[in-house]
Amino acid sequence: EPLIKIRDLMKIYQMGNQEVRALDGVSFDVQENEYIAIMGPSGSGKSTMMNLIGCLDTPTHGTYILNNQDVSELEDAELAEVRNREIGFVFQTFNLLPRTDCLSNVELPLIYSGIKTAERHKRAAKTLERVGLGDRMDHKPNELSGGQRQRVAIARALVNNPSILLADEPTGNLDTQTGKEIMMLFEELYRMGNTILLVTHEDEIADHARRTIRLRDGRIESDTKVENPALEH
Ligand code: ADP
Ligand code: ADP
Repeated sequence: EPLIKIRDLMKIYQMGNQEVRALDGVSFDVQENEYIAIMGPSGSGKSTMMNLIGCLDTPTHGTYILNNQDVSELEDAELAEVRNREIGFVFQTFNLLPRTDCLSNVELPLIYSGIKTAERHKRAAKTLERVGLGDRMDHKPNELSGGQRQRVAIARALVNNPSILLADEPTGNLDTQTGKEIMMLFEELYRMGNTILLVTHEDEIADHARRTIRLRDGRIESDTKVENPALEH
């Protein structure tokens, strides 16, 4: 069974008496340990699709099966529970708590999961070590560089061992060299077995993935294997 099974997904926004078909019949599967770049022009439906895959919203029509569970028609509370268990989010703007140290930032998803303090510290510390920030745990985000902040955000996304890592323009606020370093970290996470979906406008970023799905006008325009992944050797 695929990790994600999406069939005929449709998202219609009502704008007054106008309908906007943000997604207009999208179908695809994602297997465990795939690394996929989602591309497409502004307004093509990328954010809408990430919101649905990330269980932040439900479709107007169609089905979304995640880990053998139909999540297309869940109520908000159930959806939040699935989201916290299954999804790790990484954003362009990091979205860290600025006045809270790194360890506590990374622990947040574990608090929602009801894990006890000592275990939370241990897991958050281990995850920060994994992203190369073992020596920065008691620093606050504003004492770190952009690349280090994104590593903290990646640690927060990973700490619950989610089924999928969803990254929206994760290098969008970083200089080229730092962006490359973040892409090397994604490569390492992919090789360790993580499933990654990444939204990007940049071909050089998409070239790190193993598959590219291009959206246009709410539909899949192409779904292709990446020929020469940037960091594969
Ligand atoms: P959001 O996630 O906030 O709905 P998007 O993910 O669509 O927005 O875009 C993130 C940022 O990238 C926004 O600031 C948007 O203006 C910009 N952007 C969106 N589409 C394009 C594009 N095709 N080319 C360049 N920048 C874009
Ligand atoms: P992208 O991320 O590729 O820029 P979006 O998923 O943000 O695309 O948007 C797809 C289409 O849906 C666009 O026409 C956009 O204007 C519309 N849209 C997105 N979110 C909303 C919303 N909350 N209400 C109304 N229309 C929306």
